[in-house]
Amino acid sequence: MTELPGRRLLLVHAHPDDESINNGATMARYAAEGAHVTLVTCTLGERGEVIPPELAHLTGEALGSHRRTELAAAMAVLGVHDFRSLGGPGRHQDSGMMGLADNDDPRCFWQADLDEAAAELVGVIREVRPQVLVTYDPDGGYGHPDHIQAHRVAMRAADLAAERDFRPDLGTPWTITKIYWNRVPRSVAEEAFARLKDVLDELPFPASAAVDDVPGVVDDNLITTEIDGTAHAAAKAAAMRAHATQIEVVEPWFALSNQLAQPIFLVEYYELVRGERGGARTGEPETDLFAGIPGIPGTSGISGTSEVNA
Ligand SMILES: [Zn+2]
Repeated sequence: MTELPGRRLLLVHAHPDDESINNGATMARYAAEGAHVTLVTCTLGERGEVIPPELAHLTGEALGSHRRTELAAAMAVLGVHDFRSLGGPGRHQDSGMMGLADNDDPRCFWQADLDEAAAELVGVIREVRPQVLVTYDPDGGYGHPDHIQAHRVAMRAADLAAERDFRPDLGTPWTITKIYWNRVPRSVAEEAFARLKDVLDELPFPASAAVDDVPGVVDDNLITTEIDGTAHAAAKAAAMRAHATQIEVVEPWFALSNQLAQPIFLVEYYELVRGERGGARTGEPETDLFAGIPGIPGTSGISGTSEVNA
């Protein structure tokens, strides 16, 4: 095996586009700093809506395969070379929105056996040996079945990967040091939507989304970690734009197929749910996902300073 970089970050997402919307700046930052960034996407978004009229004919597997090419383009922009589909492309299909008959399709991710799907991720974890895992909260951020399932699979896989007796054929046990859930502080979301209200007339979108449409919005006091991605704003916007069937970008705003305008967040926020908070002064958020992890150089994580080696 070729030697991996010292810092290794794994992100687990439900559909192509979720990674760029939630973590595009974070991924660009760590890739630029030479960390190994691995993205595992659980479905190919086979059931989502399609924005460009000229691509509206794409459905099911044809849509999934088109979205793989969009994801590849987004990853090229972010500088991320290691991106995979959970269990291989097409292994788990998009489950559609909660409550639809699509949820009962035996091939959909919502119907996947949790431990089987987790074992697929265990293989990746033991191969890449990430110190940091990023995924959604138990509600998947906003209740979509694939996002909820991605959360369950990621958390279960983190446990199983560390178990000595679980599937030795999948590699040497590995314990992930820190696990984060994607978050947006309520005050930041409210402030961004207030600004959006003032410029909505100038945008090509008919209306604004609401704070509650943003996945992972929580009270500010739950936020443990802020990654300032301002330096990677252009890369994040370009990665989102690469998902043309799902996202329309008018910087610094975007809309999904519902045409409702939303802010692009350039500071990305996290809640540390496993592992020790590192570096930051008491009461201040971490500024580095790797802060405080033993054996990793150059990650003081002291708030207010950013280590720029990109
Ligand atoms: Zn999604």
